[in-house]
Order: sequence, then C-alpha cells, then structure tokens
Amino acid sequence: MCWGAAFSAEGRGNARPHPPTRPRAQRERPRAHAHRLLPPRLFRDSCPVTALSSFQTPERLSYQQAVQQEFRPAQIGDSFGPTWWTCWFRVELTIPEAWVGQEVHLRWESDGEGLLWREGEPIQGLTTEGEKTSYVLTNRLEEGDPRSLTVYVEVACNGLLGAGKGSMIAAPDPEKMFQVSRAELAVFCRDVHRLLVDLELLLGIAKGLGEDNQRSFQALYTANQMVNVCDPAQPQTFPVAQALASRFFGQRGGESQHTIHAMGHCHIDTAWLWPFKETVRKCARSWATAVQLMEQNPDFIFACSQAQQFEWVKNHYPGLHARLQEFACRGQFVPVGGTWVEMDGNLPSGEAMVRQFLQGQNFFLQEFGKMCSEFWLPDTFGYSAQLPQIMCSCGIRRFLTQKLSWNLVNSFPHHTFFWEGLDGSRVLAHFPPGDSYGMQGSVEEVLKTVVNNRDKGRTNHSAFLFGFGDGGGGPTQTMLDRLKRLHNTDGLPRVQLSSPGRLFSALESHSGQLCTWVGELFLELHNGTYTTQAQLKKGNRECERILHDVELLSSLAVARSTQFLYPAAQLQDLWRLLLLNQFHDVLTGSCIQLVAEEAMCHYEDIRSHGNTLLSAAVAALCAGEPGPEGLLIVNTLPWKRTEVLALPRPGGAHSLALVTVPSMGYAPAPSPTSLQPLQTQQPVFVVQETDGSVTLDNGIIRVRLDPTGCLTSLVLVASGREAIAEGTVGNQFVLFDDVPLYWDAWDVMDYHLETRKPVLGQAGTLAVGTEGGLRGSAWFLLQISPSSRLSQEVVLDVGCPYLRFHTEVHWHEAHKFLKVEFPTRVRSPQATYEVQFGHLQRPTHRNTSWDWARFEVWAHRWMDLSEHGFGLALLNDCKYGASVRGNVLSLSLLRAPKAPDATADMGRHEFTYALMPHKGSFQEAGVIRAAYSLNFPLLALPAPGPAPAASWSAFSVSSPAVVLETVKQAEASLQGRTLVLRLYEAHGSHVDCWLYTSLPIQEAVLCNLLEQRDPAGHLPLQDSRLKLTFSPFQVRSLLLVLQPPPN
Ligand SMILES: [Zn+2]
Repeated sequence: MCWGAAFSAEGRGNARPHPPTRPRAQRERPRAHAHRLLPPRLFRDSCPVTALSSFQTPERLSYQQAVQQEFRPAQIGDSFGPTWWTCWFRVELTIPEAWVGQEVHLRWESDGEGLLWREGEPIQGLTTEGEKTSYVLTNRLEEGDPRSLTVYVEVACNGLLGAGKGSMIAAPDPEKMFQVSRAELAVFCRDVHRLLVDLELLLGIAKGLGEDNQRSFQALYTANQMVNVCDPAQPQTFPVAQALASRFFGQRGGESQHTIHAMGHCHIDTAWLWPFKETVRKCARSWATAVQLMEQNPDFIFACSQAQQFEWVKNHYPGLHARLQEFACRGQFVPVGGTWVEMDGNLPSGEAMVRQFLQGQNFFLQEFGKMCSEFWLPDTFGYSAQLPQIMCSCGIRRFLTQKLSWNLVNSFPHHTFFWEGLDGSRVLAHFPPGDSYGMQGSVEEVLKTVVNNRDKGRTNHSAFLFGFGDGGGGPTQTMLDRLKRLHNTDGLPRVQLSSPGRLFSALESHSGQLCTWVGELFLELHNGTYTTQAQLKKGNRECERILHDVELLSSLAVARSTQFLYPAAQLQDLWRLLLLNQFHDVLTGSCIQLVAEEAMCHYEDIRSHGNTLLSAAVAALCAGEPGPEGLLIVNTLPWKRTEVLALPRPGGAHSLALVTVPSMGYAPAPSPTSLQPLQTQQPVFVVQETDGSVTLDNGIIRVRLDPTGCLTSLVLVASGREAIAEGTVGNQFVLFDDVPLYWDAWDVMDYHLETRKPVLGQAGTLAVGTEGGLRGSAWFLLQISPSSRLSQEVVLDVGCPYLRFHTEVHWHEAHKFLKVEFPTRVRSPQATYEVQFGHLQRPTHRNTSWDWARFEVWAHRWMDLSEHGFGLALLNDCKYGASVRGNVLSLSLLRAPKAPDATADMGRHEFTYALMPHKGSFQEAGVIRAAYSLNFPLLALPAPGPAPAASWSAFSVSSPAVVLETVKQAEASLQGRTLVLRLYEAHGSHVDCWLYTSLPIQEAVLCNLLEQRDPAGHLPLQDSRLKLTFSPFQVRSLLLVLQPPPN
C-alpha cells in the first residue's frame, strides 16, 4: 500500500456532525508526515554505481552462460525488450568510505522482474511492482569491510502478472519495451522507516476501529503527539516520537483476543499469463527473497507449495535449493500442499488426483525428510467432494483455501469447519477470513480477518497469508515490520508469526463446536473453465486413459514375462507432465496462448511415448503364444465386453467385427474370413423414409432422426418407452451470447441463458452412412453460423445400449457458447453427475440462490436424469461442462473467449457424446460401465509374430458396483514384482465382492493411497480370489506381491 493511504479524511466520520477543525487537523497532520514529509528522508546520501553494462537475449540463460556474454555499457533510462526477452545487467559498485557506520542499499528500479545475483547465487528479487526496489548491501558498514563489488541483475521482460496489452488478462503485448530508471547506492535511514511504519499503523487503527472507539482516538492522539515532537529535518527528535509509539503498541490486549497466525506466502501460478519456463525464474526470484527475509528475521515462517516448483529450483538453482532445505530443517521454510502442483479441483480424474499426492508427498519426503500435513489450494476453482477421502488416505487431514470467498451469489457460511466428503471422510478446513492469500500486513486486513470470520464463537484462531502472489513476489521486510509491531496491542487481535502446523493444531484443539459442510465445495464463479480450451480438456481425458492402459498392460507384462522391465521412470515422467497440465490455470483454459501450446506439446509427448510403451507391453504380454492373426484385441476395463470394433486389415483397410474380450485381458482377433453369426443379437436396421428422416434400430434402442439430424424419438425397445419429451427434439444444438463481466476465459454468467438460440438445420441434409448389420449410421451437416459449421455421424452398433454422436466442428466465433440439448420425458428434482470415484446429485430446479448459482456445473464421463424405473444418461469422451434444467439435459461443447488467449478454441474440434436410455436405476442399467467403455475403446494392437490363440483375463470383480480402476507397479516394488490395485465402490452402496485373478499372487495386503501397507490389512487368498468389502464411494488400494518368476 502507499504511505498515507491508510487514513483518509473521507470516511464514516463525515456521516455525523462533529466539530470540524480539531479532529480533521488531528488526522491531517500525521498524514502529512506519513505521506509527504518523511518518505523523502528514507534515503540520505546517494551515489551512482561505478559501472553499468548489459546484454539482451531472447533465451532464458543460466547465470554461467549469461556472465560469459559480451556486456556493453548501459545508462539509466535505457530501454530493453521486447516481451519475454531478458536483459542482464552487470553492476559494478564501490561504497564511499565516508559511509562507515551506515546501512547501505543498492537501489534498483526497472520495469520487468529482476533477480540479483551475487557470487553466482540468486540473492533477491528486484521488482518495483512487488515493492522490492532495494538490496541491503550491509546493515552497517564497518571499517575495513570490502567496499567494491560486482553483482548481476537478470531482468525478465514481463511484469509480475505477465504482459497483457491494456489490461491484465488481455493477450500479451509482444512489442512491450522495458526501462531501467534507477541504479544507485544510498544510505538507508532505518529510524525514518520505523516512524513511517508506526504512523501508518496508528492511522490504520484510528480509521479501522472507527470514531465510536476509545482506542481509535488513542491511536490518533498518539500519532499527533508524535508529529508534535518529531521534526523530519532533525533525526535527533525521532527517538522521542518512537517512544510514544512504542508506549501505545506496548499496551496489551486481554486474554480473549483473537489470534492471527501470520505466515509468509507467495502464490506462484505454475503457468498462467506467462509460460512455464518463466515460472522457473519466478520461483528463484521469490524464494531467494524469502530466504533472505528468513535470515534477517529468525521468527519469520514461509509456507510454500507445489513440488513441481521445488523440482525446478532443485534442477536450475541447486544452491538455493540447499538453502531451502536448511531453512526447512529450522522450521522457517514450510513445504505445504502435498501435491505435485496446485491442481484444478474439478476436472482431473480420481486417479490423477491420487497421483498429485503420490508424486508430491514422495517428493517432499525425499527432499525435506517429511510429508506435508496440510492440503493447500488457495486459488483453485472449486473442490471435488472426493477430496477429503483422497487427502485422508494420503496422510493429510487439514485443508486451506480462500477461493470460495469469490462466490458471486452466496456467501459461504464458514471459515473454519469440518468438510465431509462423498464417502464420509472428514477433514478440518480453514479459509483465511481476510479472503486473500496476498495480504500486506495492514491494520485494515488484520481487522477484516477478525470481523469477517463467520465462526467467531466457535474458534479464536485465523490464518493470515501475507506476500505478493499469483505471479510471485512474496513478502517484504516492511510487511514483517508491520506485523511484528502488531504483535499484541490492545484493541487489535494478537498477531503471531506462525506456521500452518501451529494454526491447525490450535484449531484442532478447540474443534468441538465446529460445523460440518457435506459434499462438494462448489465455486459460484469461473464455470466457463469446464469448457474453455476444449483441446486441453480432450488431451487430458485421452492422456489419463493412455497412462491407465500403459500401467495396466505393463503390470500384466511383468507378471507374465520374466524379461519385461516395468517402465517406472518413463511413467513417472509422463505422469508428472499430465499432473503439470492439471494446474489450475492450464487445464481450466485460463492461460495465454503460449501456455496452451506448451501444454499441447506435453500431451503429444504423453501420447507418443505412451503408445510406444503400450506396444512394448503388449509385445511382452503375448510373447511366445502362437495364434492366427498377429493382431490382439485388448480390453483394459475390468469387465467382459462384446463390442463392434474396426479391425485394421492388410492394405490399410478396416473391417468391422463383433468381438468379445474378457475382463482386463485379451482375445485373438477374429479372422476376416470367419463368419460372424448374429444368432443372439439383432442386427442394426437402418431405414430412410421418403421424408428424409432416418430410423436406426438395434433391438435395444430405436431412434428416429428428422431430416435435419435432430432426434425426434428415442425408444427403449423392450419397454416401448419413449425418452424424448413430447413436442420437442433432442440433439438440438443451441448457441448463446457469452460475454462475461470481466474474466473472459473463466466465466459464463447466468444471463447468457437469456440469449439461447437454437441452431436450425436444413431439411434434406441427413443421409445414411453405414447401412446396418453390425453397425448403422446416419450423418448430416449443420451450418452453425456464417463462419462455423458442424458435421455429425450418429452411430448405433449391434448389442450396444447407447447411441453415439461423432461430431466434428469448425469453430470460428467470438463470445459464443455452443451446447447440445436433450429434452427428456423424465421428471426428477435432481440429476446425477459423475465425479472422481463416484457421483453426486445436483438440483434440476432453481428454488434457492444456492440452486440458481449452479446453472452451469461440471461432470466427468456421464450425467443422468432418472425417475423411478426409467432414465436417460448422457455420456461424453472429453467434455466437462454440463447442466440439467427441468427435464433438459445439456452438454457444454465449445466457448469462444478472447482473453487471455485471443485464439482460444478457434479451429477444428472432434468429440463424441452418447445417449443411453435405460430402465431401472442408472446403477442397475450399467450406465457407469457404458461411460467407461465409451472412454476406453477396445485396442486392436499388432502382436509381434503370431498372436495368442486363446483369450486371457488377468482380473475381474464379482460386483457391478465395484470398479477396478488402476493396476500399476508399486512405487517401492521389491524386484519390480509388487503391484498396486485401486478399486472403488461406484454405486453408492455397502457391498462385499470378490476380486479374481489369474496372476500368481504370493501375498495381498491393503494399503493407503501412498502405497503404505496397512499393518492389519492382510487379505487371505482363496482359489485365486480375494474378498473385499466397501462402503459407499470408498476407494481401496491393495498391494499384490507376485510370486518370484520360475528359474
Ligand atoms: Zn493461482
């Protein structure tokens, strides 16, 4: 904050009459001191640096590379750039001998973000925006101290928050130029600084406590007395003024004072308005500064999250990393969070969320000797109802965020509470009541932390996170000076420099009165992030699948082949790339174009390496088993599947075949000449009527598409039940105006719903595609607007309970939102949406403001609207935004925001959704399995040489309620022969089941999500099967030790 802004003559005082002159003068005089008279005296003598030289580069060079470059003389006022370049300055300086006994600073002011290097180590950030414009060369220059020194300042050509053109979230301006405006030595007057801090705090107290408050007046009078005795031109008058302030701040509060736990923090978005590579340097600038503050202030504690950022610093700045480890041992540097990055809390799969913790906690253990105790997502856009269970099973029972204070509609009713997840797991959650993770240490913030707290009677401790954040920066010495002064002063809460551990221990020790919030923590804002940057979403879903398949098949290969080595290191690298992309400004689509492009490259790496690993695993899996075709059909899901599959045939052709593959296993491909009798299955019939409409019928469902491609009828054949609401059509594309108030990529506002326009097709565009038999299809074209068009193939397979819509869109819009709607003949007050390891219900009506605020929600692979005995599920292969209003299921397809990426979502898209009418409940009808099948197609993989002649299954589960989600090698695996299996209960029921395996198992034991054995978790193995019990939505992991391979 700027000096003097803490107190304004305008304010609540004007609302009532009062004698005008004296109180006004009492405010204005200290204000003048704080604002005008003292600040110019912060620095006394100054002198220029001896020599300044520089060189520029578009690269992000290491220090060693940079200092070898050719530096040319530079001047104050020189400009450099453009955006994303780097300018390195060599600064040679000599402190005048006459300054012995003084505190000497290097004052540096420039645009961009600077980092000061001294003797090859990063020492401190120098960023005007982050109020870091001076580097303390010495606290007190002694006789004989070396006075000559060369330092380097590495200035990145971007601000703390990127380089937006015109506004923060606008696309970056590539032409921006930067300037150095000060580089000099100066004597710092610590006593003036202290007076300024005191005056500012006193004025803050006077204003913050208000005119009805006795202490407010005491603060104001103290400030006036200070002004009376202090002559800015006479430093010898300062101690008397200082003593007056000390007397005031030394007047203690009572025992019942609220306690504020002030922790240094620096939120660094892992990529956002700047590329990933710049974040590496942001970490160095911010953390070097924090280390320096820790040295100067032994009571200062800094909480820091995101293992990925630690790993970057370890690799790029090993010296700084070693210092962080040192301060971690002292308890001053506190790693928090336990995750690889601060990921999005909605879109990552359950397994990916587990891996955030698995990779994160193991990294923290390895580098800092212990795992984190707090989950830390201050800035993420909503929190899945499965997070409490995942946290608990990863050794964490404490959670901190503040983002729900951004709710647009409803104010969240708690700051400290128990959060109960989908399965009943409970964690202690705390939202810093000041509603920020970037406090500055002002009185206003301190008071807000107390006043705003929604759990006043129930708890007496709060967190206060201070330091510049989002783009890094972190705390300053001035913030620390303010907070230390407020340590214990009557009229204010007690302010302790504290740690997350101390805060949560204090909260836990008095938690008896706390309330409980059950279910998801839904953020009533940023609902556009479920849809923005559709390619990132698609890459995420696809890569989650690839890694699932590679891990499963590699595990099976280990079990069956003594030669095969599990690709543990490669898989770790690929997982870390996927986890990195799940950062809360990347997967959400709220990043600049540069970041989206980098993220797409990460997906491409996962795809290409993943597919290579997949082939290697399959080769090992079936080695030596002779068979007919050299082609293997692989099912990576834990149930038997019979599906139509397009098999590659010689010459690049494909032929359809109906194949049956056992659970988590393989089957040989049918030969092209073998007849495919359809005795038990009705073939698909395709009929085009004279009016141009098409009927598809596979005996399970019968659909009718009108000549424009809309769905006029969807009948569940066995019951004759119609799923489409009378007088309406399904598969109706609709376009909305999508102009948020500010956060373009992030927000879709409720008022967009008022602009709904159906996209009407042209009759006669519908044509028959595949003519029936194993598969029938119809396709059509649709002009969405003059610049955007869509083509779709509607496909029905033999035996398949759902209808697929393969969709291709060429999308060139500005601020439009495309959705597809299905009005159903189903009535229910709530709809069901898949989330991580389970599902939950949300209302289909808008009774309360809480219902209304969920006009756009997120889901994973399916959503369902059911009444008793019948329902309709909408499945998808890469979408996350959805809503159900009344009887209308709606899937969000594409947006067109222009900031911070002006090119977001423009171009070609491909995606598939599917419609599944069903009788009974969605659980009984197999909706969950259908959604898995849509997302995990059977794989037709070439086997090296002849493929096996017989089918084979590795695992299966006896209950349809239980999903065997993951099979992988254990992180700590003896001779590579320990597997981890993760299963979850998906129906929301208590259930006992058997897990069957054909693998040679020596031992089975339950473990937690970090793969630590449960000492009481041994499972008896009977006839190649294990008994497992589940409660609703419970996730269970087990270690399976394979028998040693035969010699
Ligand atoms: Zn953030």
